Amino acid sequence: MARKRILITGAAGFLGSHLCDRFINEDFHVIAMDNLITGDLRNIEHLFKLENFEFYNHDVSKFVHIPGELDYILHFASPASPIDYLKIPIQTLKVGSLGTHNLLGLARAKNARMLIASTSEIYGDPSVNPQPEEYWGNVNTVGPRGVYDEAKRFQESITMAYHTFHGVETRIVRIFNTYGPRMRLNDGRVLPAFIGQAIRGEDLTVFGDGSQTRSFCYVSDLIEGIYRLLFSDYAYPVNIGNPSEITIKQFGEEIIKLTGTKQKMIFKDLPVDDPKQRRPDITKAKELLGWEPKVSREEGLKITYEYFKSLPTDVLEKVEHKDFTTYNK
Ligand code: UDP
Repeated sequence: MARKRILITGAAGFLGSHLCDRFINEDFHVIAMDNLITGDLRNIEHLFKLENFEFYNHDVSKFVHIPGELDYILHFASPASPIDYLKIPIQTLKVGSLGTHNLLGLARAKNARMLIASTSEIYGDPSVNPQPEEYWGNVNTVGPRGVYDEAKRFQESITMAYHTFHGVETRIVRIFNTYGPRMRLNDGRVLPAFIGQAIRGEDLTVFGDGSQTRSFCYVSDLIEGIYRLLFSDYAYPVNIGNPSEITIKQFGEEIIKLTGTKQKMIFKDLPVDDPKQRRPDITKAKELLGWEPKVSREEGLKITYEYFKSLPTDVLEKVEHKDFTTYNK
């Protein structure tokens, strides 16, 4: 039987590359696409030798052409950290809106099922905790995170419109903070920031007083949730994340213990519109997909630390700190 064909956008990124691995392992023909603004080919270069893998260097906010049949599309192309939104706000808006529109058009033309990567950011700075899918969010349209949040909200709307109006088979995953190997060391996110600082012997920069919370999901758990959602028959959004909630200060303490660094935490201004709390309500994922996370933070952080330690020293050392200062203003 011919292999099923799946297009994965953002394939050279953190999540995209793990999805490529998963679908290659499931014996799919993987068509990987990335324009490499934030992605890194090193994340997928081990796949280039395979006959069931191909790569296109393309920006999905421009017309997307894929020869031949297509069974599935996973749209994971997007900058995904607050530092990136500040650096490339227009591309962030375009890939979530125009990019999604192009891919929905492709899905319709090929009769493919499409899953889009949405985000807990659509809940903004939430006034309910944990956040169920029914919560509508509290988002500042014109704040620094608005370019991402609103693009993702539009992305969900246009995806539902293609589903109801054109009958395209669609799936929407709302992804909460996820970590693991292949995160970009300099993307400004808290985990690579803290681990990078510990490895370089610098103090850990906690933003605000560190009382804001996040709930961190290990990447293999997330990928399993996405895999199950794709093959489910549920078109409405589903939260996938780890409900184990922790303050950023406690998280810093865990990183200090894990890495054995002698450095301390230092406190900087809290970035504008930084959500005070975030934790997924995963009742839906449990009921619909029989999914829940399996990897504890202790286990996941250990693997991730080993990964960062294995990076070449020049990669570890060349992190730019200017970005953090701009971000905090
Ligand atoms: N954060 C921090 N120090 C850093 C980077 C981030 O204290 O060097 C905080 C940030 O203010 C936020 C949390 O850690 O409250 C998570 O930030 P991240 O950028 O990883 O993701 P977010 O969940 O805010 O999108």
